[in-house]
Amino acid sequence: MNQTVPTPPPIVHTVADLRAAVAPRRHQGVPIGLVPTMGALHAGHASLVTASQAAGAFTVVTIFVNPTQFGPGEDFARYPRNLARDAALLAPAGADLIFAPATEEVYPPGFCTRAEVESLTRHWEGAARPTHFRGVTTVVLKLFNMAQPDFAFFGQKDLQQSVVVRRMVRDLDLPVEVRVCPIVREPDGLAMSSRNVFLSADERRRALCLPSALRDVEERFAAGERSAAILSAALRARIESTPGVQLDYAAIVDAETLEEVSAIAAPSAAIAALRVGATRLLDNALLGPEFRSR
Ligand code: AMP
Repeated sequence: MNQTVPTPPPIVHTVADLRAAVAPRRHQGVPIGLVPTMGALHAGHASLVTASQAAGAFTVVTIFVNPTQFGPGEDFARYPRNLARDAALLAPAGADLIFAPATEEVYPPGFCTRAEVESLTRHWEGAARPTHFRGVTTVVLKLFNMAQPDFAFFGQKDLQQSVVVRRMVRDLDLPVEVRVCPIVREPDGLAMSSRNVFLSADERRRALCLPSALRDVEERFAAGERSAAILSAALRARIESTPGVQLDYAAIVDAETLEEVSAIAAPSAAIAALRVGATRLLDNALLGPEFRSR
């Protein structure tokens, strides 16, 4: 049998090489799609690449473990890094180019400029990780300026991040269309995450309370429940009753503003984060007439 193994996409490390690789495609009128990641890639990331390819874009995947979005004591040092494995995973997904800059390429000596989205970043992930979103928006703005994409693909998995990036794009009139892609899950329901490798078998079992609590909320919503108080109490109770798991937050929020709602009238989301062992996991479910139940 003659099976051809797809060739991994070329890797560039500098902004100059990135621009040189992208420019001819842009001049040919091909749209540029950007998929920002921190590597340790999985099928969730590959789904963003697939979405970019489906948009007909020359697809650039950035792999950069961005130090400025990690707080003190977070897992920056132990964050998994394996560029060769990531490149191999991207081959079948159809990525056209990998941009994997060194830290000094992104943050040269003397770097002191930040992009910050204000109110949307105070709650939820922002409360737990006060400097996180400033690091995300700064690096995303830089990546947009480096690659000048027509489209940028983000995962609903990091719902608040996608809302914050969309706000930055609107507020700063950035010429890029942000597209948010559905959460890709493991067969047991756990949202795929580069951090899942940190979970022991026992922690992994306990972590399943997160997707199952969200599924329960979706089912109650589908059955007609519209009280956010009832839904968020159920979400919280389900997680809090799981031994060995610390609930960080669980709430029903407006999908655009991320403010807590009392009744679900507009597109909303159930959001939750928990800690199991040393690992922090987040997940969410969109609730609204236009969102399909999983
Ligand atoms: P990360 O490298 O984990 O920071 O994620 C890079 C991008 O992939 C972000 O836009 C994430 O929201 C997205 N992503 C991560 N996990 C998933 C998943 N399970 N399904 C879909 N997108 C994801």
